[in-house]
Amino acid sequence: MNLDSLTISETQNDSSSITGKSDDSVYWSVAEVQSLLDTPFNDLIYRAQSIHRQHHDANGVQLSTLISVKTGGCPEDCGYCPQAARYHTGVDNQDMLSLDEVVSAAAAAKANGASRFCMGAAWRGPKQRDMDKMTEMVRAVKSLGMETCATLGLLKPGQAQQLGDAGLDYYNHNLDTAPEFYEEIITTRQYQDRLDTLQQVRNAGINVCCGGIVGMGETRLSRAGLIAQLANLNPYPESVPINHLVQVQGTPLYGTAALDPLEFVRTIAAARITMPKAMVRLSAGRQEMSDAVQALCFLAGANSIFYGDKLLTTGNPETDRDRALLDKLGLHAL
Ligand code: SF4
Repeated sequence: MNLDSLTISETQNDSSSITGKSDDSVYWSVAEVQSLLDTPFNDLIYRAQSIHRQHHDANGVQLSTLISVKTGGCPEDCGYCPQAARYHTGVDNQDMLSLDEVVSAAAAAKANGASRFCMGAAWRGPKQRDMDKMTEMVRAVKSLGMETCATLGLLKPGQAQQLGDAGLDYYNHNLDTAPEFYEEIITTRQYQDRLDTLQQVRNAGINVCCGGIVGMGETRLSRAGLIAQLANLNPYPESVPINHLVQVQGTPLYGTAALDPLEFVRTIAAARITMPKAMVRLSAGRQEMSDAVQALCFLAGANSIFYGDKLLTTGNPETDRDRALLDKLGLHAL
């Protein structure tokens, strides 16, 4: 059966016949997500791709470019992060970029085909003087006709609204992992702190970009726990980045046993099935993936990638390799 005939026959089913759920905002238990992850691979991918086609352009991929507007020296202790001041990773601290630098980078990203520009800063959270600069950047990038996204850490009351008033389209703040595994990875901020920031973002009318990281030594049950947490946010995030740990020497997670790439693909599929309308983003760790694994991720329902030179401080496949892969797969930019 080719995929076009699959589109016709499967999209005539309602999603409940495929997901086992009556709509896309119902509760997913961890056990239900785990049973998805346990599904035979072919069945899982078929199911994910079928749902994907009901809600998305089957061959469209959204391209975002990410820039680090302030690098390194972060006081937090996220065990995967080369920007934490306490780990010796060789990342050079860099003060906040100027408005001109950010606007030039955004214009270049747009010229290269990116529709969204994400600005990341290594802070526990922004101070008011940082907010003044960030809102200026958001306004300037927005005026180029791009969607804007920021990832600035924990937000204090009122800060999400300031970003929203400046025209911010998306705020990224990841849950990282399941609540049960969380303390193995981060101790300087609580899971609830993250949920509180996400609620502020929601209340400010900004789209939520929220996902996690796999390959940090967690079990399949923990991956199910992460996906269930994301899917049960009400509503679930508009954008769900699934990151693969990039192991950086000097961080506590360096040397963690590698995750089987097919387990990563399964996680993408579970995100697609449980959050049918979300953009599922193939994020950090893509540089280490073969074209074949990336293709499986697209088949499993990923439809967004970071595109450009650098993913914060770890590498991202160069633009040319990305273009070649998209061409080879017949995918187009959304
Ligand atoms: S992930 Fe963010 S908050 Fe955590 S150490 Fe890195 S820059 Fe700081």
